[in-house]
Amino acid sequence: MLSFGSAGQRSELFDELERVGPFLFSLLENIPDIVCMISGDGVVHFVNRARPDRAPLEMVGESIYEYLAPESHEAARACFARVVETGSPGLFEAAGFCGQGEAARFETRVGPVEHGGRVAALTLIASDITQRIEMDRRLRDSRDALEFAIAATGLGLWHVDVETRELVWDEGTLRIYGRTVAPRDYRAGIEAVHPDDRAVVDAGVRESLSTGTFADLEYRIIRPDGGLVWVLARGKAIRDASGRVMRLLGGVIDITARKRIEEALQSSEARYRTSIAALEEGIVLQDAEGTIHTCNASAERLLGLTQAQMCGRTSLDPRWRSVHEDGSPFPGDTHPASVTLSTGEPQSGVIMGVHKPGGELTWISINSRPLFLSGPTAPSAVVTSFFDITERKRAEAENARLLAEERAARSRADLLAETSKLLASSLDVVSALEEVVHRWVTSAADLALVELLDEWGEFGPAHAIAIAADDATIEAPYLELRRRAQSEHCPLTEVVREAAVRLVAGRGDGVADPLPGLPAGEGLAERMRYRSTVMIPLTARAEPLGLLVLAARTRTFGPDDLALGEELGLRIAQALDVARLYGEMQTSLQKRDEFIAVASHELRTPLTPVVLQLGRLVQQTRRSDALASAEVEPKLERMQRQIDRMQRLIEELLDVSQITRGHLHLELEDLDLVPLVRETVDGFADNLARAGCRLHLEMPPELRGRWDRTRIEQIIGNLLCNAMKYGAAQPIDVIVREEEDDRVSLSVADRGIGISLQDQARVFQRFERAVSERHYGGFGLGLWITRHVVEAMGGTISLTSTPGVGSTFCACIPRHGPPAATT
Ligand code: ADP
Repeated sequence: MLSFGSAGQRSELFDELERVGPFLFSLLENIPDIVCMISGDGVVHFVNRARPDRAPLEMVGESIYEYLAPESHEAARACFARVVETGSPGLFEAAGFCGQGEAARFETRVGPVEHGGRVAALTLIASDITQRIEMDRRLRDSRDALEFAIAATGLGLWHVDVETRELVWDEGTLRIYGRTVAPRDYRAGIEAVHPDDRAVVDAGVRESLSTGTFADLEYRIIRPDGGLVWVLARGKAIRDASGRVMRLLGGVIDITARKRIEEALQSSEARYRTSIAALEEGIVLQDAEGTIHTCNASAERLLGLTQAQMCGRTSLDPRWRSVHEDGSPFPGDTHPASVTLSTGEPQSGVIMGVHKPGGELTWISINSRPLFLSGPTAPSAVVTSFFDITERKRAEAENARLLAEERAARSRADLLAETSKLLASSLDVVSALEEVVHRWVTSAADLALVELLDEWGEFGPAHAIAIAADDATIEAPYLELRRRAQSEHCPLTEVVREAAVRLVAGRGDGVADPLPGLPAGEGLAERMRYRSTVMIPLTARAEPLGLLVLAARTRTFGPDDLALGEELGLRIAQALDVARLYGEMQTSLQKRDEFIAVASHELRTPLTPVVLQLGRLVQQTRRSDALASAEVEPKLERMQRQIDRMQRLIEELLDVSQITRGHLHLELEDLDLVPLVRETVDGFADNLARAGCRLHLEMPPELRGRWDRTRIEQIIGNLLCNAMKYGAAQPIDVIVREEEDDRVSLSVADRGIGISLQDQARVFQRFERAVSERHYGGFGLGLWITRHVVEAMGGTISLTSTPGVGSTFCACIPRHGPPAATT
């Protein structure tokens, strides 16, 4: 500090100043502080540095306040006044314009320069404290932040002195440990740790002492009140200049709540994991991008992939090779997981086929659910669950196959039944075939064709053809072509000749062939192209009848089609055979009837004079004693009986031919039935005697009506003959009665062999007999003729019989002829 003394002293002083001046000025220019001398009222006398825009000398004589920011003027003025007044140094803080031209903070020390016992001037040494202020501010801020953090996080601070083992806890640590006073030293402090965790904590502390790095420790402490608290201790080793660890410094935080949550989470996650793992369903978790993050064991099993192989894959991965139920590709962006991620909507019951790495196709039914972890707008993940339905699909496919097979079998059976019905509906098989082939198209084939050999066994110009095609316009041209262009070497002829089914299978390239046998260039060959054709020969009892052709335009015939074709062919052949046999039978029946008519007529012609001659001879023999020998008469009578019998048989045959030709003739007349029946019965007196049958006749006194006399005699005669023949020499009852509804009944009852129930209806048929020819002679025509005669008269005939007991035949006839009698 300079002071002004005597003149001598001043001269020495100036000398000295001049000597040290350059040094001082150099010093003043280079020190970081601003050194300045001012008068008490602030006029600058000296300054070592000026504002950047001015030279220091220019500043001399100017006011110091030029250097100071206006807000600092007041503080400066007060300080200057105090120093001037008290003579003691002062200090003030101000904002000024030195330095880099920007306002900086200065700490300015003000010293008095005394002269004459008073303060004549002031020295100012201003240090730039801008940086220090900033540092202080930052320090304060960070301390505030730390305190806030400590308070907010519940952090407790501690340190251990390595040398003394002294343990220091702050308020936070005391609060966490539930104590008011910290333990004396580290050893006592470790006592607060749960016995199970002490070793770990101690080892951790020792480790950090030796290595200098403090690894985080999580351990339990026991509070004095017995409460258990989980804490996290984090620290740092502080070393001295020699690198030796002096102190351990750190913080401790109560993590009990977190630990509890963790434990709860762990146990619930363990439970969740166990149940997810145990699920039969496959579970896959994908993130918002569709990437698989985790899956359970069932998912691995069902998809044939390990978790590691699956993780990282997305739905879009082509390796899934997923397919829809119809076999079409199932693009990844339409997978349920992708749909759920893009729409936020859950998907359920989506069926997908996935190829396992080995190529095996597994069918799964999938559900997907979105997870909204980060808000309700877009799913942040998707959980997909699925289960294996391969077996179910297999069973369904098998069912569908069986069902289709059953349907096909049923429709084949229907077709066969309908075919049989159509063929049986008429004996004109050729006409029926027209309908039959149309029925087959298009259910069994696109073309159905039947060609029948003509009477010369050829496909001649007039052979029968029935054709039906999906395109009806080809039917007529085909008929025309086949009738016109016959060829010996046509495949159709060959099939008939070889009598073997021929199948023309479609070509692999899908190109259909023209129907075999169609001459090219006829225009039809192009229109009658088929993928497969089957030609089936029609044969009945080894005789070729023709052939059946079935053809399909787009499909290939299989074994079922072949079997159906053969079955249809068989039915046609049978129908043709039956029709032919029927025709033949009709012809032979007709020939037989013609023969009977001719034969009976021809036999009766020579017999009539023989009967007359014989009758006359018998009478002459009886009149002449010469001839009436015991020898001749019985022989003549025997001859007459045989001739009578022969005549009756010939009459029967004549009746047969009359009845079959519908020529049964009635001669109706008014008559009394009683004498007629009596006379007829009397005529059989000899026969009854020979048969050993007694006759009992029961009739009213008179029974008038309108009947055919001869036919009434024929009815009684036939029934009486049978009664004698099969009556076992037992009595016979003939009863004639008047019935209700203006009818009469004629019944003949015997007590003979009887007729079994099953034969009773049969015996009224032509040539039907219920006895053996060896024991009883006859044609089996008597009852048939009787029935026709009774019916011609408008009546009915009935039979009641018991084998071994006897039979009663009863004819019930209107009294006045048939209802619409014309004769
Ligand atoms: P036929 O007597 O010439 O055989 P019928 O038509 O008169 O022909 O009789 C048919 C069949 O009915 C006989 O063959 C016989 O089996 C049976 N039948 C007819 N009448 C009698 C009867 N009274 N008792 C037992 N069987 C009878």
